[in-house]
Amino acid sequence: MATQRRNPLTGEWIIVSPHRISRPWGGEKSSSTGQGFTKVSTYLSPGATRSNGAINPEYTSTFVFPNDFSALIPITQSQPDQDIDISPIDSNATKTPTTSGADSGTTPNKDLFQSLPAGGECHVMCFSPHSDLSLPLMREEDIQLVIREWMRLSDQLKYNLYVQIFENKGAMVGCSNSHPHCQIWSSRFMPYLISLEDNNQREYFAKHNSPLLVDYLEEELKCKPRVVEESAYWVALVPYWAKWPFELLVLPKRHVTQLRQLSDEEVVDLSGTMKRYLTRYDNLFQCSFPYSMGWHEAPNNSAVSSPWQLHAHYYPPLLRSASVKKHIAGYEMLAQCQRDLSAEDAARRLKECDSLVHFTQKNAE
Ligand SMILES: [Zn+2]
Repeated sequence: MATQRRNPLTGEWIIVSPHRISRPWGGEKSSSTGQGFTKVSTYLSPGATRSNGAINPEYTSTFVFPNDFSALIPITQSQPDQDIDISPIDSNATKTPTTSGADSGTTPNKDLFQSLPAGGECHVMCFSPHSDLSLPLMREEDIQLVIREWMRLSDQLKYNLYVQIFENKGAMVGCSNSHPHCQIWSSRFMPYLISLEDNNQREYFAKHNSPLLVDYLEEELKCKPRVVEESAYWVALVPYWAKWPFELLVLPKRHVTQLRQLSDEEVVDLSGTMKRYLTRYDNLFQCSFPYSMGWHEAPNNSAVSSPWQLHAHYYPPLLRSASVKKHIAGYEMLAQCQRDLSAEDAARRLKECDSLVHFTQKNAE
């Protein structure tokens, strides 16, 4: 039976139609996956020359540098903070957009032609010097270095309104370089999806006097049909409202609003937890599991950040195998998202996968 489930972070409704998973499949199979663990030299490698002529150092751990093709415009001294909005968060706050894009010579209708500066900075971070080591194949102590670098960047860039750390893994999600890396875009403005989550978390907090995701995790831990990985300080689960087939939501058990607040114990525990759920991902279809992931932390403009709970989203596109991906198209693009596999079945299948031995290591034995 088809039902709809609501994402309380965004307000989006998702149609769940589990009976469709058994339909015959004659559709596209992507040929782009392979196993995806290749040792190749790219412009992200230690000592390589990037397209702008810069030469990477012979780095031996993580390596962060400004994106050579930044999508956001750095704020310079000549245009100081023209678009930063650091007032306390207010969902009804009105921005003061400029009007541009309308034909010159006319008076543009400012409700129809609005634009704002896209100020901020973009950085790239290589996880390690090894091009063939994705996160699940790295040692826990090396994953900890990645997490500590995320925390450092969350702190260093906090003069921007919002810091978005994200990883595109695999060609299937548009990753253009196979060397394991993530990106950090810190913006002077509040990105659209963050403002949706911000509004909904604050609305929930006003009603319940408790953070939305803290309450949600408490409910999930009562019977755990969607919990994939649980450790002393962290939980990875397929959210009730998941849109992507094997989507994961990663939550700390403690109320934490920003990465930089994580304790040593939480960092160490997260490195092991992350290695386990990412090993499950790779073992599911025996491939380097593609996904887009990102940390969502509280925006940097307020003392009233208690409605927020730090969390990470993982959005993998794979549906049936290493080569069959879910498309957002047709009804989903025009009306509403829909999924075939239930969140509970997805969690069960991930739980059935080995979390300790990666399939490439198993084959090597
Ligand atoms: Zn989020």
